[in-house]
Amino acid sequence: MSLEDLKEKISNYSDDDKRIIEKAYLCADELHKGQFRQSGEPYIIHPINVACILADLYADSDTICAGLLHDVLEDTSIEKEELEKEFNRTIVNLVDGVTKIERDVFATKSDQNLANKRKILTGMINDVRIIIVKLADRLHNMRTLEFKRQEKQRENAIETANLFVPLASIVGVYDIKRELEDLSLKYIHPDKYKEVAELQNKILEESGEYLDEMAEKVRIHLQGSIDGEISHQIKNIYGIYHRLEQGIKLINMHDLLSLKIIVNELYDCYKGLGYVHSLYKPINNRFKDYIANPKINYQSLHTTVYGPGNILVQARLRTHEMEFISKYGLTGYWQLNTPDVSGNMRSYLESHGTFLKTLDTINKIYVDDNSEFNKAVDAELLPNVQNSIYVSAIDGSLIELPRKSKPADFMYAIKPELINCVDKIIVNGSEVSMDYLLKDGDHIQIITNNGNYSPISTNEAYTTCAKEYIKKLQKNRK
Ligand code: MN
Repeated sequence: MSLEDLKEKISNYSDDDKRIIEKAYLCADELHKGQFRQSGEPYIIHPINVACILADLYADSDTICAGLLHDVLEDTSIEKEELEKEFNRTIVNLVDGVTKIERDVFATKSDQNLANKRKILTGMINDVRIIIVKLADRLHNMRTLEFKRQEKQRENAIETANLFVPLASIVGVYDIKRELEDLSLKYIHPDKYKEVAELQNKILEESGEYLDEMAEKVRIHLQGSIDGEISHQIKNIYGIYHRLEQGIKLINMHDLLSLKIIVNELYDCYKGLGYVHSLYKPINNRFKDYIANPKINYQSLHTTVYGPGNILVQARLRTHEMEFISKYGLTGYWQLNTPDVSGNMRSYLESHGTFLKTLDTINKIYVDDNSEFNKAVDAELLPNVQNSIYVSAIDGSLIELPRKSKPADFMYAIKPELINCVDKIIVNGSEVSMDYLLKDGDHIQIITNNGNYSPISTNEAYTTCAKEYIKKLQKNRK
């Protein structure tokens, strides 16, 4: 990617936007003059690539400027105050947000790492765009990791897998998430990566024809009834590796191959599902309705069927609008041209899922303790982004909870006051204790007792938010 590519990508931006982006480029180019990447290229190539990744997401001009300037505070002589004279508050705030805190503030390197991880995460509470610039930065660094020392490669790849993959998932940029997963695996387990990449290629060669046949058959049936776009894809290398590690055989992977069917109207998703099931036999317990019960940044119908040649194919049916959300996630707000994009991104996260609330709670509990903050984040927050369980409430609504959650966490998620007046907990028809570990698919009924509360301890909850709520209850009862 060169400056010309960036110019091409922003050709539809307003003249004012182009002017400020040009200014940010000239400033970054001047400041990084004489610096080189380990690949031997002039340093400015890196910020240009970061800006290009952001432009592909149709980022606003402030964010693209921040992409161009993201390393100037950390790696060049300019101070924040000087940058403020040249660029607006938002741009400086974004650049500052992705800048590491200097080494000499800390006693050890590990203290510095903990503080910086905290800074990146909590930056999200302030402006989600900080994380998006950071993700673009990390993506380009991972794409060019081959030029780093082996030890550094491993360190970066592990951090990418543990921190940036979950964050990409929260932002909803799934293409970036999948690429980061594959690149991390490539440097953490190079042999496995090679092995699975070859396997993936082989499967594609073997099943390509079957998938084309299936797409064509579904297309013919949909014709005249619904105007559908159909494409197929294979799970990413990391995804296949992960399933193999879980002991699942290739032949039994229900989502190894998928057929994406994009339709115009919501009802057409169900109509299309009807066609798919009448053409190909479905596996009964593999149907998921993420339209009626959406995930964060994701709506779709999933069903796994025996396709042509008896290969398992997961059909995914969704509308164009759902496809837009699954492709761009929070970054889709940039294309919707709403005012206050950053505010919209934050309110979406606040009203969907518990990530932001949990992060904020953990941040407040461990105000002065970076080590405890990071422990809580690693134990509860990051792994659960992709490792949560779904349980259903009495009215059938699906509730997403971290694995290891207990009934108190469920109550906190649906209506915290329940914790104060719970009498019985019924899971799948049988009474369970407060210590019961919830499982994926559990159906839960809470029976209350008009306020005659029984004693409850924080150990009877798993999540930080529910524990904090119980602490408050205990105080009020005294
Ligand atoms: Mn950088």
